[in-house]
Amino acid sequence: GQLPDPERVTAIVNEAYERYRGNDDGKVADYIPALAKSPRHQFGICVAGVNGGVYEVGDTKQLFSIQSISKPFVFALVCQALGGGEARRKIGVNSTGLPFNSVMAIELNEDRTMNPMVNAGAIATTSLAPGANADEKWRFVRDGLSRFAGRQLDVDEEVYQSEAATNQRNQGIARLLYGYGRMYSDPEEATDIYTRQCALNINARDLAIMGATLADGGVNPVTGERVVDADRCKRALAVLATAGLYEQSGDWLYEVGLPGKSGVSGGLVTISPGKGGCGTFAPPLDEAGNSVRGQLATRYLSDRLGLNLFASQ
Ligand code: GLN
Repeated sequence: GQLPDPERVTAIVNEAYERYRGNDDGKVADYIPALAKSPRHQFGICVAGVNGGVYEVGDTKQLFSIQSISKPFVFALVCQALGGGEARRKIGVNSTGLPFNSVMAIELNEDRTMNPMVNAGAIATTSLAPGANADEKWRFVRDGLSRFAGRQLDVDEEVYQSEAATNQRNQGIARLLYGYGRMYSDPEEATDIYTRQCALNINARDLAIMGATLADGGVNPVTGERVVDADRCKRALAVLATAGLYEQSGDWLYEVGLPGKSGVSGGLVTISPGKGGCGTFAPPLDEAGNSVRGQLATRYLSDRLGLNLFASQ
């Protein structure tokens, strides 16, 4: 089945907002200096159905950098280009159980594959973007993410510059992968494109539509454009279930029962296959770097809209 009828979805989205808007727990990320200025009190929730219905409440127009939420979408695009089998062989799909910036993630598997939802696997994924040079690869990434959102996405230059000046750890991760033969283009170039991809601005509404595109087998339900094949969506959703909320992915699946992806700027996207996508924005994060209000609101929506994949009714 699809989402409940529009009046009911509207009411439940509003309830989720009212319930958690007063929650002030968590800490805004500041390891990327520009993110410390994030609007702490903003809160937006948007649900987009595969039939094109969009339901939103709160600060759903506020732009913020997509950060790690770019990972599943870039993985789907690279999977589209390489095929699901090749993507798995080159990047890896096992859960790491480790924080997003873990270097240990690289050492877990004998063959040095990782998971595309943690930084190491994500930089490896970006290094596989097709293109003859850095410009073409960047265009592949930006245009692909823009098609998921259904509008042209632009880089937040301040966030990009701020992260580029302080991302020595990601540069180190890329270089280590290069040493293991798990970086598929120049490591500095791949890290730079990855950093730009993380600095693309989106809002909660864009996130819901991007999620709904994965829920809809790769067709953006608002623009009607096919972005990737249904087979690639299945693969991207599978890796989300393994590591979308990093070391808390098990807790998340246990509570919410849906593939989701968080980012350090406070966004969260959740996908209900065949039904729709949910996007939330609330900057304060928990210890693992996941939005506090975003997780609470999404858990409420999953329960009340009947979205948990493991529920029998
Ligand atoms: N660009 C950030 C990084 O690589 C993304 C991390 C995140 O959102 N968890 O550190």
